[in-house]
Amino acid sequence: MTCSETRGSVSFVGAGPGEADLITLRGAQRLQQADVVLFDALPDPALRALAPSARWIDVGKRGFVGVAHARGGRENTAQETIDALLVKHAADGKRVVRLKGGDPSVFGRLEEELAALAAAGIECEVVPGVTAALAAAASTRRPLTRRGGGRSVALTTAVSRDGTLGAGRHADTEVFYMAGKQLAALARKLVEAGWPAGTPALVVSRAGWPDELATEHTVASLADATLLHSGRPTVVTVGVGAEPIAAAARPARVVAESLMAEEARTAP
Ligand code: SAH
Repeated sequence: MTCSETRGSVSFVGAGPGEADLITLRGAQRLQQADVVLFDALPDPALRALAPSARWIDVGKRGFVGVAHARGGRENTAQETIDALLVKHAADGKRVVRLKGGDPSVFGRLEEELAALAAAGIECEVVPGVTAALAAAASTRRPLTRRGGGRSVALTTAVSRDGTLGAGRHADTEVFYMAGKQLAALARKLVEAGWPAGTPALVVSRAGWPDELATEHTVASLADATLLHSGRPTVVTVGVGAEPIAAAARPARVVAESLMAEEARTAP
């Protein structure tokens, strides 16, 4: 991205998906240096402590489960307002942080905001963050890639611009965002797309928070998760990466013990 020199600048910062300490050090630094912070609904309010004297502006514009996004004019106006606020504060010479939940490059409307800044010739950078799919994989100890059968991962939104739900089969492991309210429909679409009904499906809501909830299903029984996760930001991991890790045939502890015994035997 080439953005020409002006007085102010904009840093897009990924806040991570949960508690404040999931932000990167660079993201925290940018917050500490900020004059103005434009933030969404998802980031942890505790991050305010990093920039107590900055001006914090709430631009959260949609429900976290996201089915209602892109409903004609209102949504467009909100996005235009955000674009205009970014340009205005940067043009005023301010160091602006645009704080987004998770990673700014994943379902964050970043393309529109970058385009608005480029059109206004405003300097900008993007500081990555931990996206929800990665937090869910970490806390449930289910690696998204697996040697052998799990060679690809897709991050997919199940909900298209007009609010309709669709699903395909794009990778060995596929993580669906913004589908929490429509799990029954998602299950049907997944089967239509060729996922076997018995494929493991992991539903994780509020990943990265102390009250995170994770439940195990199959594609066929996905709808069972609806009530449990209702009203909470939710990702659905389908495929190889949703499977639990089987205990190793030869536990690492046993291997370590035999290595230590070998070391002791060969020590001078
Ligand atoms: N940029 C964000 C995604 C924003 S879109 C990221 O990288 O994570 C909003 C969707 O993200 C929600 O509908 C939900 O599917 C997912 N999401 C965000 N935070 C989440 C969390 N803590 N736990 C589970 N899903 C989350």
